[in-house]
Amino acid sequence: MKSPIIQTFDLTKIFDNQTVAVNKLNITVYKGIYGFLGPNGAGKTTTIKMLIGSLYPTSGRIELFGKDIFSKDKVKIHTLIGYVPENPTYFLGMTAERLLEFIGSVFHMPKQEIKTRISYLLKLVDLTDARYRVIAKYSAGMKQRIGIAQALMNDPELLILDEITSNLDPLGRNQMIELLKDLRQEGKTMLISTHVLPEIQKMNADSIGIIDLGHLIMEGTIQELNERLGTKLIRINPNNEIIRRSLEPIVSKITEEPDSLIIEADNLEQVWKTIAEISLKNNIVVNEFRSSGLEIEQIFMKALEKENKNMELKDVE
Ligand code: ADP
Repeated sequence: MKSPIIQTFDLTKIFDNQTVAVNKLNITVYKGIYGFLGPNGAGKTTTIKMLIGSLYPTSGRIELFGKDIFSKDKVKIHTLIGYVPENPTYFLGMTAERLLEFIGSVFHMPKQEIKTRISYLLKLVDLTDARYRVIAKYSAGMKQRIGIAQALMNDPELLILDEITSNLDPLGRNQMIELLKDLRQEGKTMLISTHVLPEIQKMNADSIGIIDLGHLIMEGTIQELNERLGTKLIRINPNNEIIRRSLEPIVSKITEEPDSLIIEADNLEQVWKTIAEISLKNNIVVNEFRSSGLEIEQIFMKALEKENKNMELKDVE
């Protein structure tokens, strides 16, 4: 059985005895990419600060690689985790080379190993040509990439990345996504917090956790969440008026695109049957007719919708 890399148990953080930022949060992260999703203010950064040991929980526990990080024989977090914050502001006056040398010396790495590692990492994050420039002069994307290189200096198995693509332009974002996919290929585990959902989709996250108001709403692989939300999507090309009208009474939602209809329905069999009948009867050529799962953005919206409904029900009770 695969074992969790990160597991939290009723993790809670209350600021100033009044703001409940994280509320009995239970997340489980396995090897690969974990998308940690939630709207602004959901509690992502607070959770991350507790995971990296820079903030003490009010209550609850955290296990990394199966070990409690606050117990007597607590694990040395900084040797296990590489952390990249949203706006890395550290050591901006240094060159990339000098920063990485410094980090290497903090980890007591031998000089030769530091040299080899720096060359390898600068190549990985595509900054070899900029190694002697001061970081202050880097673009936002370059700053984030040197942030990743410094986090990888002592080769941790786990990287925690907080909203690292928020300030990047589309090119910077795409470079970052490719880099993160390469790191997964190398066997790294990454918890990536973001409110920019299509990126997590592009990274092909192995699983996602959705939080709001400090607690977990849903967690699982995209496929598992699709099954749990019980709604399936079907794409039909062309966008045909007769098909659309005949489906309206039996599906929960129809979204029109210029040349396609996107159908959301629980009873797929009935939809398949109706389309077959209508297209035969009216001589409509159906070019495309395929079932596609919900995308992360749709899962996210549905999860929040479901949560809101549950809360309203509780209010009524
Ligand atoms: P996210 O990263 O998902 O945007 P945060 O973890 O930053 O969310 O914030 C969660 C909640 O905790 C917010 O309501 C925020 O205002 C509050 N919060 C965060 N840090 C502090 C702090 N140091 N003191 C008081 N409240 C805080």
